[in-house]
Amino acid sequence: MNTVTLNNGIEMPTLGLGVFRVEDYQELVAAIKTAIIEGYRSIDTASIYGNEEAVGEGIRQGIAAAGITRKELFITSKIWNEDMRKGNVSEAYQESLRKIGVDYLDLYLIHWPVADYYLPTWLEMEKLYNEKQVRSIGVSNFHSHHLKELARHSTVTPVINQVEYHPLLTQGELKTYLETHHIQMEAWSPLMNGDILNDQLIVSLSQRYQKSPAQIVLRWDLQNQVITIPKSTNHGRLIENISVFDFELTPSEMDAINGLNQERRIGPDPDNFDF
Ligand code: NDP
Repeated sequence: MNTVTLNNGIEMPTLGLGVFRVEDYQELVAAIKTAIIEGYRSIDTASIYGNEEAVGEGIRQGIAAAGITRKELFITSKIWNEDMRKGNVSEAYQESLRKIGVDYLDLYLIHWPVADYYLPTWLEMEKLYNEKQVRSIGVSNFHSHHLKELARHSTVTPVINQVEYHPLLTQGELKTYLETHHIQMEAWSPLMNGDILNDQLIVSLSQRYQKSPAQIVLRWDLQNQVITIPKSTNHGRLIENISVFDFELTPSEMDAINGLNQERRIGPDPDNFDF
């Protein structure tokens, strides 16, 4: 599995499995087991997804079937807004560990930049990190002004900012800020939840390379140095999504896909959410 080295020196796979909206326990256990057998080493969940137990069971079954150890996996979860508002940072972290059935996470993220609460939450997460309870800490859905606020008042730089990113939303200003500050960008909804897969340019490139539209988009993420975590519970699509390391888009094809950008979101703007 391809990896990148994060700003604290730890390695993270460039492609992982997302599990948002997978509510069926057995479906998720089977998908994670299959994913690990097929070579996935990174899994992205969150307490609000309500599926951390199934993630844990899938991991245990996958590890056993693939003959690997927990250390070879990179497991991410996220603190939810209610826990931030209550100041339950350590408790929320312990609860995620308990549900997943592990004794540490590789990455713990602030899920959304809840006004007035993201900074105190970050300071508590720094404690977890400094006590070596978690291998790395990062954020999600942060604009650059949120990151600047953290930088002014804290000592640990987030390793990751996980944000909505796909060909119609490339967030150029944010991407440049992250690159300048050595914060790795990670794409959520990289396939735009499936909506980008019928785009004419993506389809024509998929025909040129004899790859699927999803593979073109995921390859584009990787060549833009963006970590990607497509969600699938389908065995064939799990294999398809990870089979993107054997071809390369040309610079002009990359430019053409970059040119699809409309700064169009399918999720809420982090400056304007009501949850
Ligand atoms: P994606 O962009 O990954 O799209 C998932 C959808 O595409 C599913 O319906 C899936 O169906 C389908 N799909 C997957 N692979 C293929 C393929 N090869 N061909 C055709 N269709 C395909 O959306 P998500 O919103 O799930 O985003 C990915 C992950 O990002 C989430 O699961 C979550 O971990 C994270 N995320 C984080 C957020 C945050 O606020 N931090 C917000 C949203 C997501 P099927 O399963 O049937 O294959």
